[in-house]
Amino acid sequence: MKTESTITHKHRLPVNDEGFYGDGRFGGSFVPSGLRGNIDELADAYYEAVADDDFMEEYRRLLRDYVGRPTPLYRAERLSRHYGTNIYLKREDLNHTGAHKINNAIAMGLLARRMGKRRVIAETGAGQHGVATATVCALLGLECTVFMGETDIERQRPNVERMRMLGAEVVGVKSGTGTLTDAVNEALAEWCRNPSETFYLIGSAVGPHPYPEMVAEFQSVISEEIKAQVPVLTGKAFPDYVIACVGGGSNAAGAFFNFIDEGAVRLVAVEAAGHGVDTYENAATMTLGSEAVLHGSRTLVIKDGEGEIAEPYSISAGLDYPGVGPLHAWLAASGRVTVLAATDDEAVAAAHRLTRLEGIIPALESSHAIAALEKMHFYPDDVVVVNLSGRGDKDLETYLSCPDIS
Ligand SMILES: *Cc1c(COP(=O)(O)O)cnc(C)c1O
Repeated sequence: MKTESTITHKHRLPVNDEGFYGDGRFGGSFVPSGLRGNIDELADAYYEAVADDDFMEEYRRLLRDYVGRPTPLYRAERLSRHYGTNIYLKREDLNHTGAHKINNAIAMGLLARRMGKRRVIAETGAGQHGVATATVCALLGLECTVFMGETDIERQRPNVERMRMLGAEVVGVKSGTGTLTDAVNEALAEWCRNPSETFYLIGSAVGPHPYPEMVAEFQSVISEEIKAQVPVLTGKAFPDYVIACVGGGSNAAGAFFNFIDEGAVRLVAVEAAGHGVDTYENAATMTLGSEAVLHGSRTLVIKDGEGEIAEPYSISAGLDYPGVGPLHAWLAASGRVTVLAATDDEAVAAAHRLTRLEGIIPALESSHAIAALEKMHFYPDDVVVVNLSGRGDKDLETYLSCPDIS
């Protein structure tokens, strides 16, 4: 007999128990009835875990000793001089495995273990989330299966090899265009087939409720640290700007989380304009802004000429997603977050600029956030925080094949 859950759902974001954000336009949990029980079980386990000091202590310990947190907030001196203001980089690129994704993967791995699930499944596009998940499964002794489109397997060899070395099974998905959307569909189908023993570890702030809220919560350590670091480094209580790139929205959710209620902090989300927002080759979901249900929640997506959800395009595999998490759809629609879009060329130029000025090679995704600096105007005493979501080792080939046009 199914009884009503007695677990209190304590939300730190403006989201209701059904998973709708703000005024209720975006979010929710649109899943086949076969998955309803899994989602309810997951939600109960999640709200119970985040309220459990032992669980959170273990998570914090691993963030400190395994991931290497807190990550520095670094004053980029030469970049600051270039833009005539004060620019600080939140160094998520220095995390173990080279990006922010591990923050969330560790917490969800611990949750899987707590729920008694012996098997974790995940989907991946560029392979970054697959590597983070495979890493955590090795750490916690969990079985790991990663679904990945065949096209992406070809494009992302080194990450596929990394996952296999970590003990994960990488399953190629042939349907559709063999990219991220197809991998997500296959992971959801697998979860339906094997609900009781499987934990589906989602890597971005997307999917049916409670995933977007969970991922935001498990990335919120980023803004928690920024909030403590800014006064020490700058003497100001708050930054004037926090800038982050958005694919599905997890690093941005983490960087914005503890500032959403601080109206004086301007939050800037940067999405991938690909070849331009006036073409069909981009991933600028909030700029273009069509509504649809995608992967379990109502959100903003890009559509093609026929009104169908479009095949996205970006030079950056991590931003190449046709939707965005419902939290961001609401933050953008309500005006709390300013949305900018950077093209492939602008992102590559920004990567070369940062590398030459600071000796830091950013991930292609993060380069979009750096590129936003070109589009903004700052006062000399502004404090500008850019979330450097990951390192660029994986993108060297792309950078070196694109001329430095900066
Ligand atoms: C995956 C990835 C992103 C995009 O995902 P979000 O969920 O939007 O953060 C951004 N930066 C890096 C380095 C990534 O690996």
